[in-house]
Amino acid sequence: SLCYLNGDYLRLCDAKVSVLDRGFIFGDGVYEVVPVYGQRLFRLRQHLVRLERSLAKLRIPNPHTEAEWLERMRRLIADHAQRFGAPDQLLYLQVTRGVAMRDHVMPTGLTPTVFMMTSPLKPPSPEQRHHGVACVTARDFRWERGDIKSISLLGNVLARQISADQGAVETILFRNGYLTEGSSSNVWIVHEGAVLGPPKSEHVLEGIRYELIAELCEELGIGFNLRPITETEVNVADEIILSSATKEVLPVTRLDGEPVGHGAGRGKPGPVYARLYEAYQHAKAV
Ligand code: PMP
Repeated sequence: SLCYLNGDYLRLCDAKVSVLDRGFIFGDGVYEVVPVYGQRLFRLRQHLVRLERSLAKLRIPNPHTEAEWLERMRRLIADHAQRFGAPDQLLYLQVTRGVAMRDHVMPTGLTPTVFMMTSPLKPPSPEQRHHGVACVTARDFRWERGDIKSISLLGNVLARQISADQGAVETILFRNGYLTEGSSSNVWIVHEGAVLGPPKSEHVLEGIRYELIAELCEELGIGFNLRPITETEVNVADEIILSSATKEVLPVTRLDGEPVGHGAGRGKPGPVYARLYEAYQHAKAV
């Protein structure tokens, strides 16, 4: 299908950027991943707000207005839908500082490089939803600006590989004994019936699902609280839930090889997950 590069719509194999692009040389750029359900961009406004925030932290000017972003995204999505019959899609967008001779100092006046592509959305399998997934834990050795949705993802790649090597779905990270997030997802626990998540900070990417899960909990009458969560609390949690654009909400039923939860529900997706999942599907449909 077509992708978008600096004003042009072209085949993915024809899209080329300069080797001097600061995205290539320094990882100097930001990105977003937006799920598209039946050609509708889910929570687009929130993604554009987060993009604006990430760009501002890097002092990269936002190359487009909201209307311009929307027009370009719609064209890609329509093209993809026409070719593949409108299945759900994932829209990836990336903005880098642009092309310049290599120098750590941020050059001013560059034209940012803008790239977008769509791909088929691959949601978790029915099997994963039904049984939950296995995760492993690791020390959060990434940098201290996890709040920026940076394309520099080497720390996240290394973290993810720890679980991949063990056949698990995500690596859950801890900094100084406190839960931060997964390599590419946010992590929630259920404690005394309430959903708990780590506070927003420079160690955690504020996923679009932070606000969404808060809203769903409110709607469902489930307690919701952001506060520091210790590794011990995660290990003894009633439920552990991952969230991301592609995972939506996904239950973790094994952590470092041990079943998650207590009593009859041990090692099985929990009731709070089930309610959140259902509410999430409703939210997608409106
Ligand atoms: N944390 C990290 C490190 C991520 O890469 C992602 C996925 N982009 C998330 C959290 C979840 O964010 P979102 O809900 O916006 O997909």
